[in-house]
Amino acid sequence: MTEALTEFELIGRYFDVATRRGDVELAVGDDAALTRPVAGVPLAMTIDTLVAGVHFPEDAPPESIGHKALAVNLSDLAAMGAEPAWALLSITLPEADEAWLRAFAEGFFALAADYDLALIGGDTSRGPLAVTVQVSGYASQPLQRDGARPGDRVWVSGAPGEAAGGLRCWQGGDREGAEARALIERLHRPRPRVALGLGLRGLASAAVDVSDGLLADAGHIAARSRVGLEINADGVPLSPALRAVAGETALDIALNGGDDYELCFTAPPDRDAQLLAAAASAAVAVTPTGEVVRGAGAFARDRGGRSVRHGGYRHFRGAP
Ligand code: ADP
Ligand code: MG
Repeated sequence: MTEALTEFELIGRYFDVATRRGDVELAVGDDAALTRPVAGVPLAMTIDTLVAGVHFPEDAPPESIGHKALAVNLSDLAAMGAEPAWALLSITLPEADEAWLRAFAEGFFALAADYDLALIGGDTSRGPLAVTVQVSGYASQPLQRDGARPGDRVWVSGAPGEAAGGLRCWQGGDREGAEARALIERLHRPRPRVALGLGLRGLASAAVDVSDGLLADAGHIAARSRVGLEINADGVPLSPALRAVAGETALDIALNGGDDYELCFTAPPDRDAQLLAAAASAAVAVTPTGEVVRGAGAFARDRGGRSVRHGGYRHFRGAP
């Protein structure tokens, strides 16, 4: 950074934020951070990169980019049933624009504060806008993708497809209507389902977060568990806002649209009551949307038993 603001001033001003976490020995400012994790508890670690124009629109508000870069990682911890602890942030910026940085940091730290998450280090360089966040968290009782068994129910949190509906509104220039605004909020500021993931420990047999689309991500549970996931297309919750903007295509978007960061999970039917209680304490709606069957892959059927189109976002094959 050769602007008025040096790289070190930039880091000190926007990213060196004190933490009270007792398991952080040394945070931003040295050659590396030092943590002192709780002995004997597995750590879940995950990393995600958001590239401008690929993972968020180039003109997305900077506050929402800060929020989302952290949210997508917290969503991975949620799907593991892990409790967030620390983050590393690597940011590549075309210029040191202070207004942009202030808003970005606000979005990042507002979400971090919700989980008492400490930013303990990172890297800052110049180049096309991209943000990589790595988070670690405690996973005393991890949820994995490989535990689904035939006869389990398939559940989903929230109303999938809202973020993809929001992207359609944003790109189509429909940014002011009440429905469009609600959907765009879901696209720009996804709420990671951390509390739900923690509540599912010991209840769900498998879990995944929905980043690439409900069917695509349910397919990951199917593959890792060596089972089939049959989604009941008529049971997928469709939000009124998505129905309003997408009409007939709402179901297709709910099955295939990405970026929701909801959780899809499986559990034996005798856990229904406990699951619903856990979801209520996490203040998240969950809906039974299918069944684990013998077989392979995730697929959706409508009431007549007809199969519904499979899709999902694939970086290297282009959109379906
Ligand atoms: P080094 O050259 O030794 O890698 P850097 O100059 O990259 O050190 O970083 C200096 C300090 O600032 C380190 O503690 C690093 O973790 C931290 N840091 C750099 N960029 C960021 C960032 N974007 N967010 C948080 N901490 C950062
Ligand atoms: Mg460095």
